[in-house]
Amino acid sequence: MEFIDLKEQYKVLKKDIDKNIKTVLENGDYIMGGFVKELEKKLADYVGVKYAITCANGTDALQIALMCYNVKPNDAIFVPSYTFFSTAEVVSILGATPIFIDSDERTFNMNPEKLEKAIKKVIEEKKLTPRGVIAVDLFGLPADYKKIKEITNKYNLFLIEDGAQGFGGSIDNKKACSFGDIATTSFFPAKPLGCYGDGGALFTDDKELYELILSYRVHGKGEFKYDNVRIGLNSRLDTLQAAILLPKLKAFEDYELLDRQKFANMYTEKLKNYVKTPFIEHNYTSSYAQYTILLENEEERDYIKNYLQKEGIPTNIYYPKPLHKQTVYKAYKFNLEDLEVSENFSKCVLSLPMHPYLNGEVVTDICNHIIKALEEFKSE
Ligand SMILES: *Cc1c(COP(=O)(O)O)cnc(C)c1O
Repeated sequence: MEFIDLKEQYKVLKKDIDKNIKTVLENGDYIMGGFVKELEKKLADYVGVKYAITCANGTDALQIALMCYNVKPNDAIFVPSYTFFSTAEVVSILGATPIFIDSDERTFNMNPEKLEKAIKKVIEEKKLTPRGVIAVDLFGLPADYKKIKEITNKYNLFLIEDGAQGFGGSIDNKKACSFGDIATTSFFPAKPLGCYGDGGALFTDDKELYELILSYRVHGKGEFKYDNVRIGLNSRLDTLQAAILLPKLKAFEDYELLDRQKFANMYTEKLKNYVKTPFIEHNYTSSYAQYTILLENEEERDYIKNYLQKEGIPTNIYYPKPLHKQTVYKAYKFNLEDLEVSENFSKCVLSLPMHPYLNGEVVTDICNHIIKALEEFKSE
């Protein structure tokens, strides 16, 4: 059994993907070719924003977003502690300071009350300048943008949506990657919409930001590539990856997202009386980048994980360490209290196989094994 079955997806989409790859090879437009433009148009339409700009990966997308706001040393950027490393890494790359915010106990996402508390503290301390917030749509569920936007407006901060996992989710039928002043996503193969290598994109409705992003993506270009007006990156999406993403985006829209949600709902129905299953508020939808359950404690979690492994069922722990516990941030003194929810997650989470090519029998089988493992654990 695969944790994410990309080979099965390729079997289904092979004809269209192979055809597109062949077209790129025959046309020789490897960099910024026709498929890149076509993909950017389709991404913007799908998400419901004016501009989508592809780039080399989701980490670069975040860095470019911060560069658009000229983030620099002594700036404070508020990020969740419970996320993939990139979200804070880009802040540190630019010499600014990530301020780690604890998670909401139910949604895994940034806790808005704790965010406001941390902003107030930075203002009082007068050492750093609060500049912006990067909210993450963890495991496919959009963050609480209603509350977060109220806070960023109140304190005059920019808001970046890290939608690397969120692509496809929604709030009140408005799609993820449309909530930040700039939103970003990743096309890393394991993400809800993935390519066959690295890829990423930025989204915005703002024309000025759009033009800045185009510049930062290609060496800070001005009028043309050999006119350099700022320091930028070399961060383009290969035409080959755009060629692969186009049929995948179509499948994502046509049925993959719905199937992910269907299998997630099956898991929830079967497991909700035994473990904490994902909490999705009624006007929200998740793209289920991960289907993550919460066990009572670390011993129970590890027991279930090992039990499933023996049965040939792969699982993963996202994430074994919250960011404030990472070695590189060890010497870090800022705002290290009040992170107990994210610390507890790292001990109790378990992500189950999740992809649109599962089937009902497999999901039932996995759930039965989990229930059996729990019984065994409790009787020991
Ligand atoms: C995967 C991921 C990224 C980084 O994307 P890459 O394409 O791997 O650089 C950033 N943020 C989050 C939350 C992610 O899950």
